[in-house]
Amino acid sequence: MSYFDYILIGSGIAGLYTALLAKQQGSVLIITKSTIEDCNTKHAQGGIAAPIGANDSPEMHIRDTLTAGNGLCDESAVRILATEAADRISDLVHLGVPFDTTNGKIALTMEAAHSVPRILHAGGDATGEHIEVTLSKHVRTANIRVLENCLATEILQEKGRVKGVKTLDLRTGSTKEFECRWLILATGGAGQLYKFNTNSEIATGDGIALAFDAGAEITDMEFFQFHPTALHLPGVPPFLISEAVRGEGGILRNVNGYRFMPDYTPEKELAPRDVVSRSILYEMEKTSTDNVFLDVTYLPRNIVTTRFPNIYQFCLDHGLDITKELVPVAPAAHYMMGGVKVNTWGETNIPGLFATGETACTGVHGANRLASNSMLEVLVFSKRILGRTKSGNNSATPTQTSDEHHTLSMRKTLKKVPANGSNHLKSLMWDKVGIIRNEESLTEAADVLAAWQKRLPQFTERTSYELSNMILTGRLMTEAALIRKESRGAHFRTDFPQNSPAWQHHIIFTKD
Ligand SMILES: Cc1cc2nc3c(=O)[nH]c(=O)nc-3n(C[C@H](O)[C@H](O)[C@H](O)COP(=O)(O)OP(=O)(O)OC[C@H]3O[C@@H](n4cnc5c(N)ncnc54)[C@H](O)[C@@H]3O)c2cc1C
Repeated sequence: MSYFDYILIGSGIAGLYTALLAKQQGSVLIITKSTIEDCNTKHAQGGIAAPIGANDSPEMHIRDTLTAGNGLCDESAVRILATEAADRISDLVHLGVPFDTTNGKIALTMEAAHSVPRILHAGGDATGEHIEVTLSKHVRTANIRVLENCLATEILQEKGRVKGVKTLDLRTGSTKEFECRWLILATGGAGQLYKFNTNSEIATGDGIALAFDAGAEITDMEFFQFHPTALHLPGVPPFLISEAVRGEGGILRNVNGYRFMPDYTPEKELAPRDVVSRSILYEMEKTSTDNVFLDVTYLPRNIVTTRFPNIYQFCLDHGLDITKELVPVAPAAHYMMGGVKVNTWGETNIPGLFATGETACTGVHGANRLASNSMLEVLVFSKRILGRTKSGNNSATPTQTSDEHHTLSMRKTLKKVPANGSNHLKSLMWDKVGIIRNEESLTEAADVLAAWQKRLPQFTERTSYELSNMILTGRLMTEAALIRKESRGAHFRTDFPQNSPAWQHHIIFTKD
C-alpha cells in the first residue's frame, strides 16, 4: 500500500490543474484509466467563459448563467464562479496557455445565451487541446506521479472517512490499494451513455458510480445537455461543430434551405442549447430527415479557416469544404450537468472525498449549462478544494431542506430482458431518455436498466467495469427524469411540457 496526501482520479483539466495546485501542499498521485491526454478536455473547442471584456462584468456573467440554469442554479456558487474567473484565467496565462489575441489583447468571442462576447479561445477552435497539452507538460516537469492505464474501481473508507482507492492495472490485470488523506474525483462526464455523443471514449460515468457506491449524494441527474450541432455524416463520429460557429454568424437551414430558427425563438441560432436542439428535432421531423444544415458559406473564407481551423480541416478530410458547402448537423449528447453533489469548496458528504470537473455538481449549471462555463467551473472550484484542504477543515456537506432525497426504487420484473451491452444501452438511452422524454419512455428504460443491473457479472476488465457504471449512471438519470414531473432547462417531458414552481428544487440520490 502506498500513501499520498492527495490522490486525483482523472487527467483532464480537472485532474491536472488540481494536481498542480496540490503539489504545492503535499504529495500527489494521479490515476487515469487511459493515457494522460485521453479525455473530454482535449476535445473542447469553443473556449472558456470569463467576464474580462471592456463591456462585461461579473454581474452580467452571473445574470446570464442564472438565466440559462432556469431557476436551479446555486446563486452563491455562480457568484463565486464569476468573481473568481479573472484570477483563474491569469493562472492559465501564467502556466502558458496560448489564448488567441487581437491587437495584443485576449480575443473574446460570442456564444449562445451570453449577452456579450465573453469566450477566450486558443488555436482558434483548439482551446481544450492547448489547455490539456500545457497542463500535462507542467505535471510531467513537476514530477507528479501519474499512473496511466489504471482504473479506479472502489473508494476505500474507514470510520466514515475516505482512506484511499482500489485500482485495477489494465496492463497487468493486478489490483492495488492506495491510501490518501484527500481523494479527489476528476473522472469527467457520461456522454458515452448515448448513441450519438460528442464525448471521448472515457466518458462512462465512473465517478458517479464510484461515489454513489461509497454513499455520496448524487444530484441533478435528469439534466443532460444535448449539443444542437454535431456533424452528421454517414460513418463519421458526431464531431462537434462548436457553438462559436453560430456565434460568428452561422445559420441553421432545413433540408429545403429554409432558415427555421426565427420561427421558434427570437434569439434564433443563439438561443440556449436545449431550445436549439428541440427546434432542430421538430424541423427534422417536419421534413422527414435526420439532419439539418449549418451554413457558413456566406462568411469570409479566411474567418472560417482561421477561427475554426480544426473544424474546417476535419470536415475537409471527410470530403466537405465548409466554406463552399452546407454542413449536415444533428443534436448529440454533450455535457452532464448533474453529478456528485459538492458544496462551494468541492466537498461531498463523505469526509475526505472531493469532486471537481464534469463529474461534480457544484450547482453552477442548474438545469442547463451556459456554454463554456464548464472549464471555468473546473478552475474556480478546484482552486477552492486546495484552500479547504490546506486549512485541514473538511466536514460533510449539509443539503438544502427543500431538496428531495431518494434511493433507487425497485422495478417490476421483466418477463423478457433485452440483451445488455454498451450498444444496447446507448440506443435505449438515446431513444427513451433523450432530448424529449415522457412517462412511458422513461418507465420502459427504467425497467430495462434495473433488470440489467440485477444480472451484472463481476467485472474483470475495463469494458465490463464501464458497462456496469453506465447502467448505474443511466438508472440515476432515468429515475430522476421520471420523478421530475415538469420541463425545465435540458429536461423536456411531452407529458409535462411546462415549468412548475413546485419543482424548483433538486433531486438527490443516495444508496441507502
Ligand atoms: C467536444 C467537446 C467540446 C467541448 N467544448 C467545451 C468548451 O468549448 N468550453 C467548455 O468550457 N467546455 C467544453 N466542453 C466540456 C468540457 O470539455 C468538459 O466538461 C471538461 O473538459 C471536463 O473536464 P474533466 O477534467 O472533468 O473531465 P475529462 O477531461 O473528461 O477527464 C476525465 C478523466 O478521468 C479519467 N477517468 C474516468 N474514469 C476513470 C476511472 N474509473 N479510473 C481512472 N481514471 C478515470 C479519464 O481517463 C480522464 O483522464 C466540451 C466537451 C466536449 C466533449
